[in-house]
Amino acid sequence: MNRGRIVVLSGPSGVGKTTICEKLLSQRSDLRYSVSATSRPRRSVEKNGREYIFLTAEEFKQWIEQGRFVEYAEVYGNFYGTPKKTLEDGLKSGYNLLMDVDVQGARKLMNLYPEGIFFYIIPPDIAELERRLIKRDTDHDEVIKNRLAKAIQELEYKKDYRYVIENKDLKTTIARISNIIEKELGAARNDR
Ligand code: 5GP
Repeated sequence: MNRGRIVVLSGPSGVGKTTICEKLLSQRSDLRYSVSATSRPRRSVEKNGREYIFLTAEEFKQWIEQGRFVEYAEVYGNFYGTPKKTLEDGLKSGYNLLMDVDVQGARKLMNLYPEGIFFYIIPPDIAELERRLIKRDTDHDEVIKNRLAKAIQELEYKKDYRYVIENKDLKTTIARISNIIEKELGAARNDR
């Protein structure tokens, strides 16, 4: 069994990462989603263990102390982290692990897993991003403002990524990401 690779998606909040992940997972059986842990409150549509492992701030701190994260970061005032066990078990089983992590987490993963495939998803423009953020309507105004400020700043980070994809049309975005994954995996197969 060949070891899997990590496939990392980053990008500003509201850019469509969740939908992109869902579509990729439904189209590619080689991919598995790496479920992160977070200290942020669960949204009503979310299920513990599916979108995230929901922890209290205290529990999250314990996990950090116990060395259970490959990486963790504070994003919008809450903690998010990639559990070491999920990641290592998945890769050992030969799955390519799809991850949605912020730029801080991705930077750490680039060092630890240089063979990973790293994507930065950008919105067609910031105004569009604002509309999408407001449409989501699950957070309060102040939160939206903070997220927007963070999003604008985050666009600066795209230069760290091997692949920058503009999410103009979902179908095209999925096809492009999937083709790149295919090419990367093919290149690795030819290297062996
Ligand atoms: P949300 O609260 O909207 O689900 O996620 C907020 C942000 O946290 C997203 O930009 C996402 O990329 C980031 N995030 C989710 N899981 C992780 C993780 O395990 N590590 C890091 N560093 N960021 C994460």
